[in-house]
Amino acid sequence: MAHWSDLRSGATADATQRRRGRVVNDVHGQLHPTRVDRVVTPRSDDEVQASVAEARRQGRPLAISGARHSMGGQAFGRDVVLLDMTCLTDVLGFDPHRGLIEVQAGIDWPGVVGELLRAQHGWTRRWGIAQKQTGADRLTIGGAVSANVHGRGLRMKPFVADLENVTIVDAQGRRRRLSRHLDSDLFRLVVGGYGLFGVVVAATLRLVPRRKVERVVSVEAVEDLAGLFENRIVRGFQYGDFQFAVDAASPDFLRRGVFSCYRPVDPATPVTAEPRELSEEDWFGLLRLAHLAPTEAFRRYAEHYQGTAGQVYWSDTQQLGVYLDAYHARLDRALGATVPASEVITELYVPRPALAGFLGDAARELRRRGVPVIYGTVRLIERDDETFLAWAREPYACVVFNLHTEHSPAGIDRAAGAFRSLIDAALDRGGSFYLTYHRFATRQQVQAAYPQFGEFLKLKRHYDPDGLFQSDWYRHYARCSAPDLAGRVSS
Ligand SMILES: Cc1cc2nc3c(=O)[nH]c(=O)nc-3n(C[C@H](O)[C@H](O)[C@H](O)COP(=O)(O)OP(=O)(O)OC[C@H]3O[C@@H](n4cnc5c(N)ncnc54)[C@H](O)[C@@H]3O)c2cc1C
Repeated sequence: MAHWSDLRSGATADATQRRRGRVVNDVHGQLHPTRVDRVVTPRSDDEVQASVAEARRQGRPLAISGARHSMGGQAFGRDVVLLDMTCLTDVLGFDPHRGLIEVQAGIDWPGVVGELLRAQHGWTRRWGIAQKQTGADRLTIGGAVSANVHGRGLRMKPFVADLENVTIVDAQGRRRRLSRHLDSDLFRLVVGGYGLFGVVVAATLRLVPRRKVERVVSVEAVEDLAGLFENRIVRGFQYGDFQFAVDAASPDFLRRGVFSCYRPVDPATPVTAEPRELSEEDWFGLLRLAHLAPTEAFRRYAEHYQGTAGQVYWSDTQQLGVYLDAYHARLDRALGATVPASEVITELYVPRPALAGFLGDAARELRRRGVPVIYGTVRLIERDDETFLAWAREPYACVVFNLHTEHSPAGIDRAAGAFRSLIDAALDRGGSFYLTYHRFATRQQVQAAYPQFGEFLKLKRHYDPDGLFQSDWYRHYARCSAPDLAGRVSS
């Protein structure tokens, strides 16, 4: 691969920063303020290896964080040494013949997309990323590897399919390259393994040809959705999702939604020069309305989206969007809330023919429990036949709910009950749920969705016998799922 250093500016190596006894939290849900022993910010692989060696010497567990957008304590733990990876942001190589880019694990999506654009400036045929998460951009590649994420591709597998290889520093402090051909068993565990098998220091991503796509928008009913998705796929559309109505008092609740899909167009088609788009203030206004007047929020959102039909985008940059950091604190002030709150996300998977039935059950359950949905989406995923802890066991429909959660014991209990009932509704239909968003699932629910979870924990012990890599999420499920591990997992 070509060396990248002459294509990139910035990134100088400073000394590792250490801050003792710091309280960290996740960005979106904010439900897990956690005091860590110290935060270490490595600037090179050598510094990662040195941190691993030092934590081993001190007998301190080590957790790894990217942008901390997971929710449930996956990225940190009480009294751990926290390895904050966000300063490892270099591009290490680019192979334009094979469409591969190797990046350090702390780089985020705008970083990857921006560097690719810079490197291919003026080229007629360019590479772009295949998929990234929707809803937030400043998420790291290490986080994407470790949660095995997905975007809004209509025919895509989770992120593992976009990975050529990853490089880790393992529990013994060794630097190892993993792929489908090199230490494939460990590769299958590291991807989707929530940072429990090693520190991902770099990953090589498989790119796709960058294309122009046109947005096609309509407002549809959920009963028709499975057929509509199928129709778009047959017609060659590449990306799409369905954003549903969220007013529990309306008959449209989780039944009608904005269906936006993207179809490739002739390369000669000009990209829309000044697309209609929502500013940060517009998004904040919509979020505020979704809390106060959800039918009006949906009406305005649908009107805006329908107004963007026909706009032409690039297939990679259309996946970038606005995320408002700490928006809920501002919202709490604007709404005069006496108890702080946030949205906590959950994602459920159901076989596609079961989608409408599942959403009907979800609507009943959420109304009964009085837990407000602030926004939610349906997407598709293809089966993941590679990772050990695969969540996409089938070609599923993926349903995301952002539930308003008050940060009081009663508010958290209410939301937790709703999350568990949604998981049950998905499991009843042969579905599953995503482990990245919270840790409210019961041991039985984890076992039902991930029958391999016990084996996953055993393999964790095999590769990391001293329990070096730990997080509060791991400690929680290790205690629930394998009581014999309880004594080995420090807290
Ligand atoms: C608003 C919002 C929208 C989202 N949308 C989507 C979506 O569309 N699709 C989707 O799949 N997910 C989505 N997510 C979830 C998100 O993609 C994952 O939680 C992802 O892991 C977050 O990346 P991060 O950099 O914040 O990782 P963190 O939250 O910091 O870490 C996540 C996990 O990865 C591990 N980890 C991080 N870096 C490394 C590393 N270098 N080496 C080893 N382990 C590491 C951590 O230990 C932890 O277990 C969304 C989350 C939010 C808040």
